[in-house]
Formats: sequence, C-alpha cells, structure tokens
Amino acid sequence: MSDEPDIAFPSNPITPTKLDLDNVFTFACHRGIACFNKCCQSIDIQLTPYDILRLKTHLGLTSREFLFRYTVPFEMDGQGMPGLKLKTRDDTTACSFLTEEGCGVYADRPAACRYYALGVVSMRKKDSPVDEDFYFVVKEDHCLGHNETKTQTVREYREEQGVSLYDELNREWRQLVLKKRSCGPVVGKPSDRSLQLFFLASYDLDGFREFVNSPSFQEVYEIEPAVLEELRTDDVTLMRFGFRFLKQVLFGEKMLNEKPGALEKRLERRRAREAAGG
Ligand code: SF4
Ligand code: SF4
Repeated sequence: MSDEPDIAFPSNPITPTKLDLDNVFTFACHRGIACFNKCCQSIDIQLTPYDILRLKTHLGLTSREFLFRYTVPFEMDGQGMPGLKLKTRDDTTACSFLTEEGCGVYADRPAACRYYALGVVSMRKKDSPVDEDFYFVVKEDHCLGHNETKTQTVREYREEQGVSLYDELNREWRQLVLKKRSCGPVVGKPSDRSLQLFFLASYDLDGFREFVNSPSFQEVYEIEPAVLEELRTDDVTLMRFGFRFLKQVLFGEKMLNEKPGALEKRLERRRAREAAGG
C-alpha cells in the first residue's frame, strides 16, 4: 500500500488545516440559507460502489438502468481504470437530482454530498495495517454556510451526515483502486478482461450477480451454498464479495477458493474465446 493520499472528495479550494475527528469547525447548512441548492448547481461528483447501490435502490432501478440514466464514465488513471461521475441535467452543470425543494434523493445521497463542506484524505503509513483519515474544510465563495455560527466536531458532523457507513463500506474498494494506481507501472496495464470485471463488480451489481450465478463462475470458485444464497439476495454482501473477488483478479491475492482443475478449465475457455476471436 502506498503512502499516496487518497483524496476522495471535493478538494479545491480547501482550507489547508488538517482536522481530526475531535477538532471543531464552524459551518451550518439549512433550507433557509440564501445559497440553498447552489452547491448542487455545479457538480463534479465521483460515485463509489456503495453510492450506486443506495441510489439505484432509492430509485427502484436496476444497476444498468441507473448507470445508463445517471452516470458518465471517466478514466481514473492512465491505465484505463473506469470511474463514474454523476450526470448533470441536460446541458447544465446542475445535478440531475436537484429539485426546487432541494436534493431529490436526500436519504440516499452520495458520500461526497454528505461530506461537503468537508474533504477527507485517507493515508496509510508505511508498515501500518490501518488507514488514517484527515479532514479539511472546503470553502467555496458561493457557500454561505461558513458564515453561520454553528460549531461542531468533525465526529459530530460525520454522524449527522451519516457518512460512517459509506466510508466503512467503500474503504476496501478505495484501497484496491489506490493500490492499482500506485503499482500500475510495476505490474503493467491491466488486461481488458480485468478492467471489465472491475467495472462489473464495482458498479453493475445486478450484472455481477448474474455473473456470480453463472455456471462459468461456479465451475471455477468454491462457494458455500449458504453464502451463494446470501449473494443472491443481499446487495451489500454481494458488493463486499465483489471487492474480494477484485483483489484476486487484479492482484492475484488468494481471496476465494478455486475448485480443483479450475485453472485448466479457465485456460480451455480462454483458448476457445481466442479461437472464436473474442
Ligand atoms: S450552505 Fe453551502 S452546502 Fe449548504 S446549500 Fe449553501 S452552498 Fe450548499
Ligand atoms: S445528489 Fe443531492 S445533494 Fe448531491 S449534488 Fe445531487 S442534489 Fe445535491
């Protein structure tokens, strides 16, 4: 794991004061404030797997429908790692979910929206098994919340905004993105297949479920029937399983047990695909 900071949320312009959970900052956002909704009128929001899971569930869409209607792709690095951003409305810079009354998906808004006006940086020191998070105040001219008098600790703000669950569930994914980015030149460009699997397991959860249920997946991986049943019915369990699967696909880490002879069968299938020009 590199020491490179994982700057995950709006980072400019930030007030360069490092805050920890018990530091206090002054900020309040409320419906009566003159800038209400301004921050949602010009967005640049990267989506995480758990953001997508919450939003597609909120909207009653399949993951593919959600991706098609509400996201735009971008490349997260120079190696083709696919990322997704929230689509803006028509020819504007405004969020598609913005309504006169405020956020139309408030209960399931993405982590970046929850954090604002804080930014977060995750770092892992050399030889440390855990990440450390630091926080920054993001001050943009249009945001009048910084002139309010409410003070709170970062911990209180995080709790009020409900970000802990998002951070916990996305952490493993962020770590593998960061690891892939930092060891990119060492291991070379990922194969198209591994990038497709990264997209599937990260963003298209319903597609990933079909893949996990497919004979070709089950022919290779040894999965307990009870676990398989949970993967069929529980999105969060499936998403976390996907992160483990990706560690195996991207870094060769032994996360899932393979069935005896699986490697040979996989090679046979690959040869057949190649012979068929796929
Ligand atoms: S106070 Fe800041 S975060 Fe709140 S609505 Fe205004 S611009 Fe957005
Ligand atoms: S999801 Fe909601 S809070 Fe986030 S930018 Fe869109 S309207 Fe604003």
